[in-house]
Amino acid sequence: MPGRILLLDPQVTNRMMLKSQLTRDFFEVALASDAAELTQSLRFAPPDLVLLSYAAEKTAGFENIIRLTQSQKTAHLPVIFLHDGSDTSVWDAAHDCLADDVLAYTTQRWLMAARINMLIRGKEKLDSLIARQTTITQMGFAEPTAIYPPQFVRAFDLDISCALKIFDPSFAQKVSALLNRHFPMLNMIRTQITGNDPPAADVTIVDETSLGRTTAFQTICELRKRNPEKETSILYSCDTNSPNAVRSLELGAQEFIPASAGPSCFATALRRMIWQKQMSYRTERAVANHLKSALTDPLTGLYNRRYGLQYLGQHLARSKTSVTAMILDLDRFKHVNDTYGHLTGDLVLQEAAKRLLRNIRSADLLCRYGGEEFLIILRDTPLETLQEIADRLRRAICCTPFLDDRENRIAVSASIGVSTTQASGGREPMEVLEFADRALYRAKHAGRNRVIFGDQAA
Ligand code: GH3
Ligand code: MG
Ligand code: MG
Repeated sequence: MPGRILLLDPQVTNRMMLKSQLTRDFFEVALASDAAELTQSLRFAPPDLVLLSYAAEKTAGFENIIRLTQSQKTAHLPVIFLHDGSDTSVWDAAHDCLADDVLAYTTQRWLMAARINMLIRGKEKLDSLIARQTTITQMGFAEPTAIYPPQFVRAFDLDISCALKIFDPSFAQKVSALLNRHFPMLNMIRTQITGNDPPAADVTIVDETSLGRTTAFQTICELRKRNPEKETSILYSCDTNSPNAVRSLELGAQEFIPASAGPSCFATALRRMIWQKQMSYRTERAVANHLKSALTDPLTGLYNRRYGLQYLGQHLARSKTSVTAMILDLDRFKHVNDTYGHLTGDLVLQEAAKRLLRNIRSADLLCRYGGEEFLIILRDTPLETLQEIADRLRRAICCTPFLDDRENRIAVSASIGVSTTQASGGREPMEVLEFADRALYRAKHAGRNRVIFGDQAA
C-alpha cells in the first residue's frame, strides 16, 4: 500500500500527467485545482502526502496552504513542492514554509516514487508515535514534555583532509543558519571512519561521493548493526541519478539527498529527520516514565506491591532453591502520625526505606507493600542467614531513633513475618504471602518489635 496523494496543481495537463504516472506506481491520487478544493479534500479524505505546484501557487500564499495542511487533523502531513526546474528560490521557500521536499516535474519516475515513499514512511512512523503518546495521555499519565538533548549531526569522512561539501565552511554556515531557528544548540561534526567509535548522533550523513559506493554501503550496514548507533538516522548523499540511492534505503538509510543539493535542501532534510528523532525520543521517555510510575512508589522510590508480586511469582515458578518473603510492618505507626503529623510520618517512611535498603543484599528485592509495610524477597538463603537478615532489618529500625525537621527523636520499631519455601515449584505468591502475613500477625500479638517465622518454614 504505497499511500494516498493529494495533488494541487492549477494546470490540467500537469494534473493528468502526474496522476497517470503516480497511479502506475500504485499510489492513489486525488486532484485539486485550487486551495478551496484542497481544503475540501483535506477535510473529507485526508491524504498521506500533498504535492503542491510551486510556480502556480507562489502568489496564492504558500504559507496559508502549508498551514492548512498542517492543521490539527492533518498534522505532520508531508508536503512536497513541485516546480519546473527554473526557479531556484523554491528551496528557500520550502524551508521557510516547513515543506518537506522539492521535486521538479521532470524528476525521473523512480526517483519521484522513492522520495514520496520515503516521506510517507516517515509520516506513518510519526502517526504511530503520536498514537502511543495519546494512549499514555488518555491513561492519565500526561507528562511534561521531555527536553530533548542538544541536537547532533555527524558526517563520516574517509580521512579528514577529504572535503565533504556539508563541512565546507561557507556551506556549513548556511545550513547551520537555516537550522538555528529550530535547533539553537545544533552541533555538526565530522568523524573519520577509521577512528574509534564516534559518538552517537541524531543524524549521520553518509556521503557516497567522498566515501565511494562500497565504503558508503558498508558504513550504513555497520551503523545499523551497532547499538546505540542503530538509533541514528542515516542521510545518504549521492548523485541524483544513482540507483544506489534506493539501495541505501534498503540497507537502512532513512533518506537520501542529491550530492548537488544546496544548503536549504540539506537543512530541510536535516530538520525533518531531527524532528522525527525528537518525537520518538519523547514517546520513549513518556513510555519509560509511565512504566516507572506504574511500578514504583513515589514516596520512597522503591518498587511497589504490583512489581513485588510479579517478581515473587516469577521466582516461585522458576527457582530451584529457596524463595523467602518477609513482610515488615512498622509498629504503632498511627501513633507516629498522630503525635508528629503526617509529614513527619512520611519522612520516617522514607528513612525506613533507606535503612532497609542498606541492610539487604543487592540480589534481594525490597518493595513498599502497603502504607507502612515493606516486602523483602530473598532467594537461595539458608535459614540461619534469614534469621540474621531479618533481625538486622528489625534492629535497623529500632536501634536508632528517627529525627524529624524539628529535631524530635522518634522511636520506631518493626515486626517481621517470614515465609520461606525450599522447593518453590508450584507455590502461588499469595499463598506464600499469607503465611508471612499470619506470622506477622503473631509477631504483633506477641508484643511487636520481633521476627516470627511462618509455620511452613524449613
Ligand atoms: P500496628 O503496630 O498494629 O501495625 O499499628 P499501626 O498503627 O502501625 O497500624 P495501623 O494499621 O492501625 O495504622 C497504620 C498507619 O500507617 C495508619 C496510616 O495513616 C499510616 N500510613 C499508611 N501509609 C502512610 C503514608 O504514606 N504516610 C504516612 N505518614 N502514614 C501512613
Ligand atoms: Mg500495617
Ligand atoms: Mg503498623
